Amino acid sequence: MYIDPHIHVVSRTTDDYEAMQKAGIVAVIEPAFWLGQPRTEVGSFKDYFSTLVGWERFRASQFGIVHYCTMGLNSKEANNEALAEQVMELLPLYVGKEGVVAIGEIGYDDQTEAEDKFYRLQLELAKEVDLPVLIHTPHRDKRKGTIRSMNVSEEHGLDPKMVIVDHNNEETVKEVLDRGYYAGFTIYPHTKMGSERMVEIVRHYGPERIIVNSAADWGISDPLAVPKTADLMRKSGIPEEHIKLVTYQNALTAFGQSGQMDERDWLDAAPLDQTKKMSGNSVLRGGQTPRVEGKTDIVEN
Ligand SMILES: [Zn+2]
Repeated sequence: MYIDPHIHVVSRTTDDYEAMQKAGIVAVIEPAFWLGQPRTEVGSFKDYFSTLVGWERFRASQFGIVHYCTMGLNSKEANNEALAEQVMELLPLYVGKEGVVAIGEIGYDDQTEAEDKFYRLQLELAKEVDLPVLIHTPHRDKRKGTIRSMNVSEEHGLDPKMVIVDHNNEETVKEVLDRGYYAGFTIYPHTKMGSERMVEIVRHYGPERIIVNSAADWGISDPLAVPKTADLMRKSGIPEEHIKLVTYQNALTAFGQSGQMDERDWLDAAPLDQTKKMSGNSVLRGGQTPRVEGKTDIVEN
């Protein structure tokens, strides 16, 4: 069993869902993020947030995968301050919904003043509703941005155990772990931060508080990055219990602190039934045969 704790499945196809389930992914977490182009109206955020707790959760269930999400205003769009203010008014209506396991992904992109302002406001929101925080670290000036994210989080009194710092690399991992945070790693295909490097990081630092994800979205990315990395770890002699921690258990422990994510959600899930509908809509098109399964035996890995 695997968890992919960072994947933007609204951008993925049903073929991806089928392949993910086949590869052993039992649950996914979809962080609220931007869509590749900036939104111009608060209503677009409202409908997006509703999709994350509504249709997408249902759609995943139709392929045997339990879907959770995180709610937040991403750092890029924090730079449109007038709109960001309106999103901040909207967020409290969504953070308490079923399946919301963190505030995120929030943090810095260009490390502007506006980003800093809305990052801090959302750290306060996370404290208020007692949810973990998922931090997106910037791709430019990564080390500086990562350290700043942690400093500001501590300034606001958050417990590092409640914070997942994502998109780490070899330059950031040591400090993130030393300071007591969870360290997320995104496996990007065709780049240097591929599965091979991930194997070496786990070999060097051990499995404690390290979490592997795909961050697959509308860009070139791989929704099977987590199971593929686990396979490479196996071939490379990483102990099975370490693989389980970084591709399953650590994500469950970290995001489970929300009280919204429990292993029983997939172990005791109702059998897959594609005849189900949500508000009259199904994943089937005319003439397709629904998959309806008896309760499957879960094989522990
Ligand atoms: Zn993301």
